[in-house]
Amino acid sequence: MKNNIPLLEPITSPWMESIVNDSKLQKDLLERYDSPLNIHNLHSFQSNIGEYLAFFKQYNFKSKIFYARKANKCNTLATVAFESGIGVDTASFAELKQCLDLNIKPEDLVLTAAIKNTKLLRLAIQHEVLIIIDNEDEAKLIYKLCLEEDKQAMVGIRISGFEFQNKKLKSRFGVDMESVGSFILQFFDDESVRKSIRFTGFHFHLDGYNPQQRGAALHQTLDLIKTLRTYNFDPRFIDIGGGILINYLKSKEQWNNFQDELKNALLHERDPITYQNNGLGFIERDKKIEGQLATYPYYNETPKASFIKSILEVNNREKISVWERLEQMDIELRLEPGRSLLDQVGITMAKVAHRKQDAEGNILVGLEMNMTQMTSSSADFLLDPMVTYSNPDENKKEVEVYFTGAYCLERDFILKRKIALPKLPEIGDVVTFVNTGGYMMHFFETEAHLFELSQNIFGLNISEHTEAINFFKDENNLKVKQVYL
Ligand SMILES: *Cc1c(COP(=O)(O)O)cnc(C)c1O
Repeated sequence: MKNNIPLLEPITSPWMESIVNDSKLQKDLLERYDSPLNIHNLHSFQSNIGEYLAFFKQYNFKSKIFYARKANKCNTLATVAFESGIGVDTASFAELKQCLDLNIKPEDLVLTAAIKNTKLLRLAIQHEVLIIIDNEDEAKLIYKLCLEEDKQAMVGIRISGFEFQNKKLKSRFGVDMESVGSFILQFFDDESVRKSIRFTGFHFHLDGYNPQQRGAALHQTLDLIKTLRTYNFDPRFIDIGGGILINYLKSKEQWNNFQDELKNALLHERDPITYQNNGLGFIERDKKIEGQLATYPYYNETPKASFIKSILEVNNREKISVWERLEQMDIELRLEPGRSLLDQVGITMAKVAHRKQDAEGNILVGLEMNMTQMTSSSADFLLDPMVTYSNPDENKKEVEVYFTGAYCLERDFILKRKIALPKLPEIGDVVTFVNTGGYMMHFFETEAHLFELSQNIFGLNISEHTEAINFFKDENNLKVKQVYL
């Protein structure tokens, strides 16, 4: 029972190809910065920002974009976001403090942290940064701090519990839609509270990637604003958070085929294509497949602006679309994209340390990195990595491998998928994981075993020609290093 391993070819950019095709450059970089190494192309980030800005120009409602700082740890990206005309969404004391220290204007910042202590709220209040409040305790603490600081705070209220197809969309975040109205009327009933806290808009961030749900949530928020206007409140914006789809994969057939083959493997109708036949969310029971693929929808046909467009076109019962209502009611639409602004912005490269065979005959390729340096919040990162061979033409013989990492855990597999390669990599060959800039490279990275965190470097505009990759900036922005001539 020997079957082909299904491919999942990633969408790549010329700048990525130029690095992957240059074995000498890769080795120089890893020599200098160690393995694994994250490389970012700032031009791709700027062009993603440009795409959103251009998209919103078509509409007559106001809009504002905040780059979700948490999706990548590099402060260079926050600076570039600000310089490119958008704001930054911060979600911790360090994120907010750093953005203020980078001289990003307070009006271009928003604080959406899930947990906000006194220190964090005081910082936001002192600098007049918009705070998205999540609950009444936070609101009361803000009021107290405003009196202490003799400052006025600007707040938006995070809401949740929207209705969709007669079911409630449950969330641990925000104030429930059923109680938010009475919360606002009661909390702001007090003259002194109104003086201290300016309530300026609403915020939500929904799980999942259903534009119909987002559209329904927007309509319900617009209805709420309409009601509040009759009580003399005047919220000016709705911030719909992030979670805008991006497309990682080239081929729909490959995506569907992968899922079919995964199911076949679970039914023992073919060799496993994942380590220990992991179903990635699918399970086999009584020779039937149950459950669902528990990964990000890596292939999809409505990425970025087209995803937002489909949200804006959702109609309410009166057949009025979201965008029409935003225009009519003069409400600003705000967005906090993280992942989608980082599409095609980053790659992660690691050196091969060893090759071996386990007791079951699996070939394991050990990389100088660990699982936390490339971790998806979903069941697996389903993109084929790219291997750069020092000697591409010698000993060509196809192999199927798993990539393993440096942590002392049995589960330190960089990918759960088995990967087919044209030949076995040699020690020192380089494996590149593409499009890792959003979350993958940073979000779960830890320093167990006292491993150093990976380094991050930047090409200002890495072009198709490797010769043009002259300058890489350090994350701290202090030095410009010439690494290749
Ligand atoms: C995580 C998060 C974002 C960014 O989400 P992406 O999927 O990266 O676009 C924006 N806003 C809030 C409140 C978040 O929690």
